[in-house]
Amino acid sequence: THFGYQTVDEDEKAGRVAGVFHSVAKNYDVMNDVMSGGLHRVWKHFTITTAPLRKGDKVLDIAGGSGDLSRGWAKRVGHGGEVWLTDINSSMLTVGRDRLLNEGMALPVALCDAEKLPFPDNYFNLVSVSFGLRNMTHKDVALAEMYRVLQPGGTLLVLEFSHVFKPLKPVYDLYSFKMLPLMGKLIAKDADSYQYLAESIRMHPDQETLKQMMLDAGFDSVSYHNLTAGVVALHKGVKF
Ligand code: SAM
Repeated sequence: THFGYQTVDEDEKAGRVAGVFHSVAKNYDVMNDVMSGGLHRVWKHFTITTAPLRKGDKVLDIAGGSGDLSRGWAKRVGHGGEVWLTDINSSMLTVGRDRLLNEGMALPVALCDAEKLPFPDNYFNLVSVSFGLRNMTHKDVALAEMYRVLQPGGTLLVLEFSHVFKPLKPVYDLYSFKMLPLMGKLIAKDADSYQYLAESIRMHPDQETLKQMMLDAGFDSVSYHNLTAGVVALHKGVKF
């Protein structure tokens, strides 16, 4: 049936995503630097420093992987705050948790699916998801969960690859479809995973579509900020 087919498709996607991240976890940080030319640090720095946060706030980092945003949130909310590093993938979460521990930061961690968050309603001041939403099977369900766990007045930040400004598209396509898998092959010995990552970037909704999806999930004052000519966009929405 149609639904039967859809289920297989979705299971396949979730399984593939799990495989990709178990496989890239060890090399993830190095590859991030190589593939983005270090730019992912700039994009994350912008996200962390511009977020509406106060000392003592509670923050949930979804699909937190190796913990870059969690580290930034922990510094911003201070000792009285609470920052949860979460991810669906045990390999990624272990790398992130160990890295933060080595830096002297013991944050609470949870292995969980963004589509089924194990947190109460109206709990967090800020929820972040950085380079994770595009891997989620039901983005609408995940966004609804993010809305649920936010306090009224709380903010969702989505940092994600987006659609590059048109004149740059041919160069960008060449880079993501030829260079990315090649670098994945040479450096991480894993061309397939990086091919998947390039495809998932291309399939991800553009700036305006994601904005509408956030509005549909109930968020207000939704806006976005393009970074590096739209290679990446930071979407922001508030729960009123
Ligand atoms: N946030 C980190 C960063 O910006 O470097 C890691 C991003 S990494 C590209 C994407 C992460 O999304 C992976 O760690 C993966 O396990 C996680 N992920 C994929 N699907 C997920 C889901 N349904 N729920 C939670 N995490 C998920």
